[in-house]
Amino acid sequence: MSNDNDKTNIEDMNTEKDKSDHFCYLCKRPESVTGKMIEIPGNIHICADCMQKTFDIMNNSDNPYMNMVGIPPNIFGMKSSAIADNKKAKKEKTKEEEEPFDHKKLPSPHVIKASLDEYIIGQEHAKKVVSVAVYNHYKRISKWAPKDIEIEKSNMLMIGPTGSGKTYLVKTLANLLDVPLAITDATSLTEAGYIGDDVESVISKLLSAAGNDVEKAERGIVFIDEIDKIAKKRNTNSRDVSGESVQQGLLKLLEGSDVEVPVGASSKNAMVPLKTINTENILFICGGAFPDLDKIIKARLNKQSSIGFQADLKDKYDNEENLLQKVTLDDLREYGMVPEFLGRLPILFTLEGLTKEMLVKVLMEPRNAILKQYKGLLAMDEVDLIFDPEALEAIADKALEKKTGARALRAILEEIMLDIMYEIPKDDSIGRVIITKDYIEGNGVPVIEIRGVAKQKSIAGGIGGIVW
Ligand code: ADP
Repeated sequence: MSNDNDKTNIEDMNTEKDKSDHFCYLCKRPESVTGKMIEIPGNIHICADCMQKTFDIMNNSDNPYMNMVGIPPNIFGMKSSAIADNKKAKKEKTKEEEEPFDHKKLPSPHVIKASLDEYIIGQEHAKKVVSVAVYNHYKRISKWAPKDIEIEKSNMLMIGPTGSGKTYLVKTLANLLDVPLAITDATSLTEAGYIGDDVESVISKLLSAAGNDVEKAERGIVFIDEIDKIAKKRNTNSRDVSGESVQQGLLKLLEGSDVEVPVGASSKNAMVPLKTINTENILFICGGAFPDLDKIIKARLNKQSSIGFQADLKDKYDNEENLLQKVTLDDLREYGMVPEFLGRLPILFTLEGLTKEMLVKVLMEPRNAILKQYKGLLAMDEVDLIFDPEALEAIADKALEKKTGARALRAILEEIMLDIMYEIPKDDSIGRVIITKDYIEGNGVPVIEIRGVAKQKSIAGGIGGIVW
């Protein structure tokens, strides 16, 4: 009897215990087995093992599917980005201890400029300004930077016609310095909450260009093209979500702030982990063609010169070339750029429109010049490709007509080279192809020379119909 009573008492005690026992939300084990659990809002309990496992998963890989382990977002009352922050802090500390940034490892301005010269034709002033600005920017974040002097950021605004080499300059620069680069188009940006990318998406792009290495991204370069397209819209009553608001949105980034960006995706959502990037040491370069800015500059110059006794002729600046070089902040303000935005781009410079001579050089001289590439391709078939000097000028003329600077060159060349690249490999006896002005202008055919025979092979048909 007493045995039965004992049994009942033990069972009662067990039920009592089970009732008060909590079960782990993840592994379902009771607290009596797992040890003390952590309670989080919503009457959810997590055991220490599962808690540790979850942190490990989030810390060890940038696993975009971390929610799949069954943890609702923010379950720890801690944002995933905060966890990422912890990781960043840990990582940065060790990296910084290992190798603090040293600008002396970077090439000095004249070396940067000399390397740019190998790729970019003309634009002497722009190349010089960029070389110095970039060098100063990296000095600013160097371990040798003076602690008592605050060096201003060298964010830049470059103005130059389409196809003058703005993007190319930045790309070449990033390559030379081996820093991550993100290029974005200001036209794709809108105020947060509207259709389009919000301004922080550029930092997300930079992070992926840096292979998700936060520290590398924080020393990268962001190039925002077509910046003139976010000028304040004039005479509009509707909300300017893609103009002035974007400029306002960019202010924070340009100046330096902490931005939470999704890893491996362009938009934030519950499934994507976030990382915090500080933009203070990111170099921002904005570029734009600013069409019609010359009219504003001309109007200002005419106004200035028509005041006073020695008033000049009103049309004095009508034929002035490269009027853009005379740009001032006031002109840009009148164009629709917000003063605070301009204030955060202290380095302002212009690129000149490419002349015919420059276009010919672009064809021939850069290390990766288009002609060098075609020559190299045909040399692999043991064929010598020669362009008559007049043919090069004819190509430059055609490009000038298109008014898209050097951008037109590749398209023109691809068109004229297509038949040649198609037909030449058919005939082993061809040793040389000479491209003439007539061929470029559609009035003739390329001159073909047969290997070892000083004889010209005639081609009938011309462009698009080479007959061998
Ligand atoms: P944009 O000024 O519109 O940004 P890009 O930099 O995109 O022009 O130029 C388009 C292409 O034209 C480049 O990829 C490059 O091959 C060529 N290019 C433009 N300007 C130059 C230049 N000054 N020197 C050499 N190549 C150039």
